[in-house]
Amino acid sequence: MTSAPNHSTTHAPGQLKAVCLDVDDTLLDTQRASRQGLRELVGTDRAWPVWERTTDHYYARFVNDELDFEAMCVERTKAFFAAFGEQIDDTEAARRESVRMAAMQSAWGLFDDARPCLDWLRDSGVRLAVITNAPSTYQRKKIAAVGLADVFDAVVISGEVGVAKPDPRIFRTACDALGLRPDEVAHVGDRLDTDARGAARAGLHGVWLDRSRSERGTVGDVPVITSLHELPELLVGDLPAIPAMPELIG
Ligand SMILES: [Mg+2]
Repeated sequence: MTSAPNHSTTHAPGQLKAVCLDVDDTLLDTQRASRQGLRELVGTDRAWPVWERTTDHYYARFVNDELDFEAMCVERTKAFFAAFGEQIDDTEAARRESVRMAAMQSAWGLFDDARPCLDWLRDSGVRLAVITNAPSTYQRKKIAAVGLADVFDAVVISGEVGVAKPDPRIFRTACDALGLRPDEVAHVGDRLDTDARGAARAGLHGVWLDRSRSERGTVGDVPVITSLHELPELLVGDLPAIPAMPELIG
């Protein structure tokens, strides 16, 4: 564990005034919970790669407004079982999904590094927000279930603002909610393009949380951390300067 550096309780690191974070697989160990749901559904998580692939496909259709969340869940479940040769109708898919969803929700939990990082940021005087691609009610329930309902100064959910990451408008919505310029705000997330590069294109400091440790240092101009324990040091140290992108900062 990287210990948080000493800090004043009233001085924010550098010029940075707020940090936005993604929720799923950034603060919450969503994959662990989702694997638990899959085990409840089929008795094992050996089919996790198929479930993950199917989820990526159907969740993208939800994010792109091609399916609402409930329809996405039903279609995903039908496609998952069809991949193993079992055809089920909408009613049976919805029933199985409710079983999986209940098991997954009971397993929702934060990564061990999430709370210490949020506490350090808060104690440093940095404001906090989340920016997440998800339906409103579902995601607010999830945030509350892990004890974070009162932690953030702004909660920006794609299902509420009508645009999703990596669209620059959702990042600017967060900056507006915080009353800050994009270059005063960092965004941290587990998806390189959706989170880190999307934020950078909107003029924020994009940071990629690569928990699988496939990369270290930087990818292009994007700083990479492998744990939220590394975030304080990065913010206090040497975040790269934001390049001028006036066409995106409107
Ligand atoms: Mg994520």
